[in-house]
Amino acid sequence: MSKREFQTEVSQLLQLIIHSLYSHPEIFLRELISNSSDALDKLRHLTLVDEAYKSLPFDPRIDLELDEEKKTLTISDTGIGMSEEDLVSHLGTIARSGTKNFLSQLSGDARKDSNLIGQFGVGFYSAFMVADKVEVVSRKAGEDQAWRWISDGKTGFDIEPAERAVAGTTILLHFNEEGAQYANSWRLQEIVKKYSNHIAFPIFLTYDKSEWDAEKKESIKTRVTEQVNAASAMWRRSKSELKDEDYKELYKSLTGGGEDPLFWFHTRAEGSLEYTTLFYIPAKAPLDLYQADYQTGVKLYVKRVFIMDDSKELLPQYLRFVRGIIDSEDLPLNVSREILQQNKVLASIKTASVKKILSELKSISTSDPEKYQKFVAEYNRPLKEGLYSDYANRETLLELVRFKSTKAEGMTSLADAKSRMKPDQKSLYYITGGTEAILRTSPLLEIYKKKDIEVLILDDDIDEIVFSGIDKYDEIDLKAVNKSSAGDDLKDEAEPEKAETLKPLLEKLKSTLGDNVKDVRASTRLADSPSCIVSDEDEPSARMRQMMRAMGQ
Ligand code: ADP
Ligand code: MG
Repeated sequence: MSKREFQTEVSQLLQLIIHSLYSHPEIFLRELISNSSDALDKLRHLTLVDEAYKSLPFDPRIDLELDEEKKTLTISDTGIGMSEEDLVSHLGTIARSGTKNFLSQLSGDARKDSNLIGQFGVGFYSAFMVADKVEVVSRKAGEDQAWRWISDGKTGFDIEPAERAVAGTTILLHFNEEGAQYANSWRLQEIVKKYSNHIAFPIFLTYDKSEWDAEKKESIKTRVTEQVNAASAMWRRSKSELKDEDYKELYKSLTGGGEDPLFWFHTRAEGSLEYTTLFYIPAKAPLDLYQADYQTGVKLYVKRVFIMDDSKELLPQYLRFVRGIIDSEDLPLNVSREILQQNKVLASIKTASVKKILSELKSISTSDPEKYQKFVAEYNRPLKEGLYSDYANRETLLELVRFKSTKAEGMTSLADAKSRMKPDQKSLYYITGGTEAILRTSPLLEIYKKKDIEVLILDDDIDEIVFSGIDKYDEIDLKAVNKSSAGDDLKDEAEPEKAETLKPLLEKLKSTLGDNVKDVRASTRLADSPSCIVSDEDEPSARMRQMMRAMGQ
């Protein structure tokens, strides 16, 4: 047996892991399973492309074996395996220079900051969070000799020849006090399902299952081996292989509900960035849609390994109703929340995903208007939030939102309203600032009715804020009928004389109302009612001022 010392950085890293990461020690299993999955991927690749490996048997699987009494767990795979040299260099040094530099800069209190640790792969060494002794037996594919690597995670490791029937790696963990909680089959199944359910290879757990023996009237233990993960990573298969039922099934397993989604968009990007996205639109809007502490519904995976499902960074807030998966090949497994916020890879995936979702919605709006109406009934309002917050996609969003109108049944699009414009109509008009009933009977609409001009009824509470920032749709001015300039469009010729006759009345009203109004003017916008209140062009209306305050602006 030969004794080796860890590279200084490894000792530092181990200290950091053991003393900083205790909040989530369960991730040790995710890391070890993902290493096994990588090793299986590597061997599969070689058996496909390399003559020397083509004849080797490849029976990919990952086995977990639990001994509850001894408090040990083995994680075995039939992957590429490691030679003696590999064991020394992969499990005794830190190859990545970035990590080395990072560690050398860490000092004192900074080391205790567990956020920092997410900046480099914890990987294999995370085993030492839960084990006081780790044994690795590995045989490299194509070699006959296997090797055993043993360490207590303190100063170094021992290495010696060993036996292994086939190529692959077995990691034996002797759980420490902290790790004892994982010597439990339920707990292990739960962790595997949580993080590794969609690893492409089957993961089996062998353990002593307690079952009730009806004849003997006692619980007996049987050693069983059961597959724990779904092993599908269904989203990684090509669209042509998948049936609607597959998509619906995954949706139900993601959301834990029984309802079918309204629709889904499955995209695979290859090129400078490699990722897969599968987004679902739920048939009914999530109940917490309008709560500040809403739950996000998009899960982030890295190479089929589950990373997190509660990051508000994955999609913009206005698309918070979307459910589904982002699976990236380019992010590190241990990407932290803090890193996600400024990560360029994720930013590109996010931008492309938003574009994709919006363009798919747009094509549904023309190809299946009936289904699109169902979508609008649930999600028109969040899309309007997007008009306010997502400047880059405003054009598309304007085509996606729908409006009530004085001229159309149900909901109408701006495109349709535009197509109904009168030959001499200068702008598209809308009214905001109240309930549908109040708006529909507003005196402000009289002149439009008289002239047979359509007015869109914007009765959502955010409409005023959102649309006051949008002056055009497809080259046409959008105007609020309660703003002074909308009236200018409708001016008729007789006005100057009329204003002259009304002058004394206007003066009188102005002095009576005093500071309560900015001005009193003669108007052509009314047909039957004697007067109405409008806002100056550049001034936020009273209601809007209220809303802005509520939104903290
Ligand atoms: P990473 O996976 O990010 O490279 P790890 O600390 O998890 O970092 O693993 C270090 C290296 O050890 C891996 O890159 C791999 O070469 C090797 N290794 C770890 N586990 C296995 C395994 N089960 N089979 C083969 N090689 C492995
Ligand atoms: Mg790893």
